[in-house]
Amino acid sequence: MSDASQKEKLRQHFARRVTTQARVVLDTWQKIHTNNGSFTSHRDELLSAADKLVRYAQRFDMAGHAEAGSNILAIVQRWPKDEPLDEPTGQQLQDAIDALARSTLRRTDQSNAEAPHQFRRTPVYIALANGEMANRLIRQLEFFGFRASAYDSAEELIEACALHKPETILVDVNFGGEPNMGIATIEQLQERHDTPIPIIFMSDEDGTIQTRLRASRCGGEEFFYPAVDPGQLIEKIETYTHGNTVEPYRVLVLDDSRAQAKFMETVLKRAGMTAHIITDPMEIINALDMFCPEIIVLDMYMPGCTGMEIARVIRQQDKFHSVPIIYLSAEDDVTKQLHAMSLGGDDFLTKPIDPKHLISTLHNRGRRARSLLALMIRDSLTGLYNHTHTLYLLDQEIVRAQQKNQPLCFAMIDIDYFKKVNDTFGHPIGDRVLRSLSMFLKQRLRKTDHVGRYGGEEFAILLPDTRPSDARNVLNEIRERFSELKQPAGDREFNVTFSCGVAAWDNESSQSLRERADRALYASKEHGRNCVTLADT
Ligand code: GH3
Ligand code: MG
Ligand code: MG
Repeated sequence: MSDASQKEKLRQHFARRVTTQARVVLDTWQKIHTNNGSFTSHRDELLSAADKLVRYAQRFDMAGHAEAGSNILAIVQRWPKDEPLDEPTGQQLQDAIDALARSTLRRTDQSNAEAPHQFRRTPVYIALANGEMANRLIRQLEFFGFRASAYDSAEELIEACALHKPETILVDVNFGGEPNMGIATIEQLQERHDTPIPIIFMSDEDGTIQTRLRASRCGGEEFFYPAVDPGQLIEKIETYTHGNTVEPYRVLVLDDSRAQAKFMETVLKRAGMTAHIITDPMEIINALDMFCPEIIVLDMYMPGCTGMEIARVIRQQDKFHSVPIIYLSAEDDVTKQLHAMSLGGDDFLTKPIDPKHLISTLHNRGRRARSLLALMIRDSLTGLYNHTHTLYLLDQEIVRAQQKNQPLCFAMIDIDYFKKVNDTFGHPIGDRVLRSLSMFLKQRLRKTDHVGRYGGEEFAILLPDTRPSDARNVLNEIRERFSELKQPAGDREFNVTFSCGVAAWDNESSQSLRERADRALYASKEHGRNCVTLADT
């Protein structure tokens, strides 16, 4: 390694130490802030954290951090040791903290209890031979709410994994300098965990089957050869970690035997599924509406009607046309089973039921139903809800807002000068921007909000139970953050902005609400773009 690159590597290593220390300061402030008045008990902690930050930042020439740290230090030192902060000083300190947060390029979650976005994920670890690439990735990942840290040596990586198991590790096949040393490190590391950590391998030199096999055997879920750019990697990490959190399946069980129903409930709950049990067939319509099951289990024989008759009624409703139906019965007559299946059933389980068999059947059916549903309601480029489904959700949310007497906001987003992005960098990069905005929106919004791709470069957002001013603030924050995000295009980078219109539902039709949001969006465009406009009522 040349002298210059050695130095650069060192500099990057220490730069990370500074940002890590900045986070310690931010976390300490967070503790003070979330627990009002506890300034006195955390004062010394804040003081020493800020002091250390200033020393590190000065030593490693990071002026922004040094200045922000010095400001914090000065304010804390000026204030009497055992007195709670007064309001103006609290505000001063907050401003200094905000400045530090900005230079650390990571949003802290303080100050706004309603802030929808939090860094709630477990970390992503990065072990790359190229330190500059690692740093660039970390900065990008943080925009998407990932907590990422990079490591320079196998020992550091192993130690970090022992302390805190990461969501995934991105590792160079030759991390550590020698061929395959990255894989060897992972092999060693996986031995210490009961369930393997999913690994994303990349390599610029070695894409042979031997290496790929070895990588795959120690938990390699992905293998990039040749190595890819940060944009693609982040997409992988995102889709990958998203897939990790599977929502529990919602299973509706209809069985007239109370004992059998209870047994099913226990088995399902133990398997982590959400079960809704009914014993009266006449309750089925109500249960479908209220519970919206993803899988339905029906007893074959019940007083008053059969499971097959119930299945036929269920299938008459469009909404439940593709929900898997599984029959349960002591029936072992194959002809009758076949007949039952022809009437809209998907599977047949014979009593007494083996819980393992039941659960694996439900899992298979559920997984397949979800992927089919995703094809129907999601946009294939971004994974967001498509136009039709977004409108359907809007209708639902309007009904809910009316019933619960809660506010509801609808926002439309349109990327600014997107044609120019396509013209300058090409359509594939344009697509990448659309995906990055989708990930960004999903990450920054609450779980109860809905994000849809409304059209080409237009997005729609439903914000239930949100007041117009809050919706505007949230979207404005997202707008600002997104505009700072560096979009990679080969070895170039560029920024993209969007315009937004928000309308609060005002006892009107879905169409009227959408039109008002659209007019507000148009006003944002007129106003020079890169801004959020709230529609008049
Ligand atoms: P404005 O700020 O006024 O919104 O300007 P604009 O260029 O964004 O608006 P315009 O409506 O003129 O152009 C939208 C462009 O979006 C044109 C179209 O080629 C592009 N686009 C639409 N869908 C996709 C897509 O799926 N992928 C890519 N890469 N581009 C798309
Ligand atoms: Mg447009
Ligand atoms: Mg546009």
